[in-house]
Amino acid sequence: MSLHTILKMGNPKLRKISTELTIEEILSEETKLLVKDMIETMRNAGGIGLAAPQIGINKQLTIIEIPDESSRYPQAPSSGLFVICNPKITNLSEETQGFWEGCLSVPGLRGFVERPREIQIDYLDENAEEQSIQLSGFLATVFQHELDHLFGKIYIDHIKDTKLIIFESEAHFLEKSE
Ligand code: ZN
Repeated sequence: MSLHTILKMGNPKLRKISTELTIEEILSEETKLLVKDMIETMRNAGGIGLAAPQIGINKQLTIIEIPDESSRYPQAPSSGLFVICNPKITNLSEETQGFWEGCLSVPGLRGFVERPREIQIDYLDENAEEQSIQLSGFLATVFQHELDHLFGKIYIDHIKDTKLIIFESEAHFLEKSE
């Protein structure tokens, strides 16, 4: 296993629309190894999600895992590990919700982003099996953030007011309240 370099905003690979994986690709040894590397890279960076384009691979593959004690998102409930391929997203509600998002490709910053509150994701898992999940709350935002990466978008794109972009070091209100 090896750690990969995480690309930063400005790298053109973060702005490409990624291609779907074939079933054969999902089940290949190469992808299994890639997923292991992505998990290691995400955990090492303290992230709660990592999309393949963030390490320079323009494939529709992303992982999500909110650990018990997330260093970057201490208030977030843990999620278990998701491996997502070729996702399709459906909004289940007109309602939106906002969270202070961060991104390993935009280090040091947080931005307040409003997104649909309730969504359904249909995708293939690491065994190329069809999955369908319905999500709301913070996890719905995390999934939408990660899926955006597969379609060349970054959370900054959703921020309508530049006052809602701040440095992490000034975001004291995000620290765990004891
Ligand atoms: Zn991101």
